[in-house]
Formats: sequence, structure tokens, C-alpha cells
Amino acid sequence: MFGDEVVALFGQLKALFDPDNRMNPGKVVSPNPRDHQLRLGPDYVHTEPRTHFSYPEDDGKFSHAALRCVGIGNCRNAVSDEQVMCPSYMVTREEEDSTRGRARLLFEMLRGDTITDGWRSTEVRDALDLCLSCKGCKSDCPVGVDMATYKAEFLSHHYQGRLRPMAHYSMGWLPLLSQVAVRIPGLVNAVTQSPAAPLLKKLGGIAAERSIPTFAPQSFVSTWKHRPAHSRPRRPGPRGPVVLWPDSFTNAFDPQIARAAVLVLEDAGFEVRVPTRPVCCGLTWVSTGQLATAKKVLRRTLDVLGDDIRAGLPVVGLEPSCTAMFRSDGVELLPGDEDMRRLSKQTRTLAELLTERAPDWQPPQLHVDALVQTHCHQHAIMGVDADTALMKGAGIDADRLASGCCGLAGNFGFEAGHYEVSRAAGERVLLPRVRAADEQTVVLADGFSCRTQIEQGDTGRTPVHLAELLASGLDGASRDQRGSARQPVTTSKET
Ligand code: SF4
Ligand code: SF4
Repeated sequence: MFGDEVVALFGQLKALFDPDNRMNPGKVVSPNPRDHQLRLGPDYVHTEPRTHFSYPEDDGKFSHAALRCVGIGNCRNAVSDEQVMCPSYMVTREEEDSTRGRARLLFEMLRGDTITDGWRSTEVRDALDLCLSCKGCKSDCPVGVDMATYKAEFLSHHYQGRLRPMAHYSMGWLPLLSQVAVRIPGLVNAVTQSPAAPLLKKLGGIAAERSIPTFAPQSFVSTWKHRPAHSRPRRPGPRGPVVLWPDSFTNAFDPQIARAAVLVLEDAGFEVRVPTRPVCCGLTWVSTGQLATAKKVLRRTLDVLGDDIRAGLPVVGLEPSCTAMFRSDGVELLPGDEDMRRLSKQTRTLAELLTERAPDWQPPQLHVDALVQTHCHQHAIMGVDADTALMKGAGIDADRLASGCCGLAGNFGFEAGHYEVSRAAGERVLLPRVRAADEQTVVLADGFSCRTQIEQGDTGRTPVHLAELLASGLDGASRDQRGSARQPVTTSKET
């Protein structure tokens, strides 16, 4: 722009103020040669490990993924209120707890000169330890660094053939454990809520400050199997069948949400189908890095859903992290599987299904104010446009919080050693805003983690799922069937 002569004058001027050339050396005045100080010089060598995820955006190479970060540091400075990235950095303000810091350590691990023990590195493990796997960076980082995936990949190799932290067993295997617990919920609750709870938490690697969630008296799938004839629609819904996904959290802990979703879907004209054999998306095995098991769980689920997904039926997810698992992680774990690809394409949130497939359906008019906590996986994978449109159509005046991740993030906030960071992330925006909300304002949170964080965060509030709020406004016939809802939902500004 300025030409050699003027740049030389710049150099003379700079030298007056900076005779030792300490300010910005090698940049504008006397710039370094272009092939100096390259991150990857001609002598760059690295390993190319075999991986569980397929990294479709990185030519299938983990080494490419680990090079994505360009270092400009957006993850250290939230650039907008809608941004989720990076909750651990926002709390600790340590570089190694930023997306960039973690990406750098993974790069050094592959380069193998500073970090020499590869997947077994304890430095990398410790830097990833406070990553909440919120996927905030996947959507908010300008180059799409996906640290939640890299963390799962790392953990799977780091612990391969070794004893894992107890939390990986107690929470990673929760879907399987809950299949047993839902048969004897009273007994399980009596034990987990008894004076023996501290010992159980210690054995399970669960933070002492956390309460173990209670199992519902009857799981959703169980009530579905025994649904009385009078509460079923008299004729199949004209809009055709949909599969309602009975995720482990909704099924075992909050079945009233799935029951509410059935009412809403039937009111909108759909015929609801529910898989009654045990199924799971594998999420908890992914977040704890047990990827070989996660793939087995997913394949088993695809076997159960096979006919329905090959027939093109939409699959409705209520728990955002399970919905995101089908939409995104599943295809990266089973890249060549056609059924997985179909499931990914056909999976919809409740709001997406209603706005796409039932645009002429009139949602109940609720006329309420709502404080909305967006699940971080929904933010990263599905987005919130359909929810926003549906809430508007239902007369819900939504105040969507700029709170980022709730801080609980699945197993993260429950794991021993994570409570402080988890709570601090919640205290940044979410928990104070919920505490300050007036009682007439409904607290909406579709994620089990977000609801648990709010319930265990001294707010005195019980948040609800959008399905529950919509169902609360349906007509009398539907309302009769809502007797099992966890709590009444305030649906009118007047009441
Ligand atoms: S992780 Fe993303 S946002 Fe953070 S420094 Fe790297 S490229 Fe920038
Ligand atoms: S997944 Fe979340 S916590 Fe982990 S690095 Fe990305 S933004 Fe940070």
C-alpha cells in the first residue's frame, strides 16, 4: 500500500521510539520472510492415529482436526450474547481451559516433541478434564473446532485397556443401569436418597454436593405399553405416524414430558409410535469416551428402529443432547451405515416436526412469559428457529437467556472435582436470572441437565419442557390425561 520509500520512513520513525526493536518485531517494518516461523515447516512430522470418529470435514484425519485452530482467540472473548463457547474458560480464565489451549495441546501431542506420550498424556487429559463437552466451539468457533468430539476420541484411547474413573462407569452406563432401576424405582430411590447416598456418590465418582436424581414411579415406556384404550385416539392421526424417541433421561426420570409430547403430537394429527424394546442413542458412552461401546449401542438401536426409519418416518427427540447425537455424532461414528444416515436425516425436535409437518396446526394459545434456557447441544446442532416460531405461535413471550451452557452438561457437572466449575458456569447468568424471575414466568428448559442444574441451583423453581407447556394448554379431553404431570404449569398471565 505505501511502497518501499514510505515504509522505510516508517522504520526510521519507529526506531526513534523503539530503538531496541521490541515492539511488534518482524511485522510491518522489516517483516520476516514469508517462509520463516511457519507453524508447520518442511520438517513437520506427526503421527496419524486410527480413530473412532470419521472427521468428514478433515479428510478423515484427526491430525487435520487438531490443526483447525487458527489461534485468534474468539474462545477467550465471547463475541456475542448468543455464544456458548467456552464455558470453562469463562470460569477459570486459564488458557489451558480455553478451546484454543486444548487445541494447542492436541497439536503438540500429535507432533510428539513436547508431549511425547501420545494418547497416554496426562497433560492433555488434564487440559480436557474441564471441557464440558458442550459443543459450543463446534458452532461458535469461526473454524469449527469440535472439542467435545476430540475429547471423546482422546478419552477412548487414553483409557484403552485401563481402569477408568468410576464416573465413567456410573454415568457412562446410566442408560443400562436405568433399565434395571425403572423396574424397581421405589427401592432404588430409597437407597440413593438414604443416609447411604454420600457413600454411593463416593463409590460412583459423583460430586458430594450433587443430589442423585430420583427415578419416576413408572417409566414412560411402561405407561405407554399399558396405555388404556380410552386414552388412545379413536382413529390414526391424518398426518401419519411418527416415532417418539424414548431417551433414557425422559423415560426414567421425567416421563411426564414424553406423555405431554404424545398429547401434543396427537392433537396436531400425528399417530405416535414408541419403540418398546430397550433403545439408547449412546450419548453417555460418547461423552465418557467409551466409543466402541457407543457404536455397539447405536447399531443395536438401528436394528430396533430399522423398519420405521427405512419407511421414512420422522423420529422426534425430546432431549436435545440425544437428538443432537442422532443428527451429528452418530453419522461420524458409523459413517458408512445407511440406516444411521437415514436416522440422522429424519430426526427432528418437537418444534421442528410441528413447524415443518404441521404448519397449519393451531397450537394452544397460552399467553405466558417464559424464561428459556437453550441446551448447548441444541444451540450447536439443531438451532432454535423452529422453537422460536412455535413459541410465538403459541403466545409464549420467550426471553431466551444469553447464558450459554448451564454448566451441568450431562455427566460433567456430576463428576467429582467438577462441581465448582459447573456451579460457577451456572451462576454466570442462568441461576441468578431464574432466581430473579417472577413466579408467573414459566422457566422453560428442554435439557435434562439444564433442568437439573436449575433445580439443584437453589432457585426454588421447577423448570418444564416445551412439550409440557404446550400440553398444559390443550383442550379438556387432553387435559384429563395430564394428571401425571410433575407439576402444574402456570400457563396464564392472569392466573
Ligand atoms: S479454538 Fe477457534 S475461536 Fe479459539 S482460538 Fe482457535 S480458531 Fe479461534
Ligand atoms: S466443548 Fe465447550 S467446554 Fe469444551 S472446549 Fe468447546 S466450548 Fe469449551
